[in-house]
Amino acid sequence: MQLTAQQERLLKEARSYVAEEIAPYAGAWDEQQAVPDTAVAGFAARGHLGALVPQEYGGAGLDAVSFGLLNEAVGYGCSSMRSLLTVHSMVVHAVARWGSERQRATWLPRLASGESVGAFGLSEREAGSDASQLRTTAEQLPEGNYTLSGRKMWTTFGQRADVFLVFARLDGRITAFLVERRAPGLEVVPVSGMLGTRASRLAELRFDDCRVPADAVVGRPGFGLTAVALSALDVGRYSVAWGCVGLLAACADASVSYAQQRLQFGKPLGEHQLIRRMIADMVTDTTAARLLCLRAGRLKDLGDPETVNATWMAKYFASVKAFRAAADTVQIFGAVGCSEGHPAQRMLRDAKVMEIIEGSTEVQQDYLAQAALRERAG
Ligand SMILES: Cc1cc2nc3c(=O)[nH]c(=O)nc-3n(C[C@H](O)[C@H](O)[C@H](O)COP(=O)(O)OP(=O)(O)OC[C@H]3O[C@@H](n4cnc5c(N)ncnc54)[C@H](O)[C@@H]3O)c2cc1C
Repeated sequence: MQLTAQQERLLKEARSYVAEEIAPYAGAWDEQQAVPDTAVAGFAARGHLGALVPQEYGGAGLDAVSFGLLNEAVGYGCSSMRSLLTVHSMVVHAVARWGSERQRATWLPRLASGESVGAFGLSEREAGSDASQLRTTAEQLPEGNYTLSGRKMWTTFGQRADVFLVFARLDGRITAFLVERRAPGLEVVPVSGMLGTRASRLAELRFDDCRVPADAVVGRPGFGLTAVALSALDVGRYSVAWGCVGLLAACADASVSYAQQRLQFGKPLGEHQLIRRMIADMVTDTTAARLLCLRAGRLKDLGDPETVNATWMAKYFASVKAFRAAADTVQIFGAVGCSEGHPAQRMLRDAKVMEIIEGSTEVQQDYLAQAALRERAG
């Protein structure tokens, strides 16, 4: 599928930025378990945090395919940095699509410039794949403000974010709130030691009678899960799918290059048929995943609702294949790939996370099968 000249240019520029300023540091960030603030600021200075912010609010207003290409480029170099792009863009999308005019005017320029970083707080200990079971509550006070109580787990870039999109039950109905980091009653507790995307600065959000203003509700009460979260998760899933394309391409490049150099049994690894099989799968899966992502993006740009199913399919395929490719990359590198600090090891850990977030592999299989069965029913 052909890209426009503008999309080609964006991809080229993003790739060269990632090669210079992200990929060389991804290993160190993984080890330190943090993308540093300076790198977040550099990313924002490039305008990438404003990728989905409409131009009238100071953002780039990228079309879906361009946004996807940016995710591929960043995902090639560092899945943790790509996670920042994902969760921040989910908040941007929610505010732009569902926010009041006042919320858009307040938050979108800040989110575009990076003055404010956004994070997404949906998951709880009891509510993972089944978010409808969330227990965080919101109560409206007589003067109109709200108080939130509960715990949000595994909030990507929660340690760094300035504003959180949080989902809580208001009179039993799930409702979305924008909560500022400085809100009284909110404690941000760092989470460390995760298997993958270790530099994505996860946090647990603890709300203890946390006070938020009356105009913090995004969309209407009761529409938190069915409208706000659902459409933000579609953006997140799309971003992760493209990030997996980048991860697949990074695995293929690293594997090909090593297979050309490493000699065993008197010839390069790349001349052994079993290694060639792994490389063949990686390059084919990279292309196939990219095409599925492009299809989802084109449908988004056309405003075709079929994009939702196409995005599920793209994310399912890309994440499963990225994990397979990363495992094969470690296999090709052998003991070297198992060593501390080696990129193959990091890519394998990161790829496993891709099969869990934004709809796990099993949840996606279930969704896709149900959609197929429904479509073909009588
Ligand atoms: C690195 C990382 C970053 C994250 N960042 C965020 C974030 O920014 N914001 C946020 O809100 N959340 C975040 N999460 C949480 C993430 O969204 C959840 O992990 C995910 O929704 C899955 O929930 P769970 O981990 O509780 O697993 P569970 O839902 O308990 O699932 C456990 C296992 O059971 C399987 N399973 C579940 N339901 C079914 C079913 N119906 N049929 C078959 N199998 C099933 C799953 O596939 C999985 O293998 C993050 C998680 C990680 C690991």
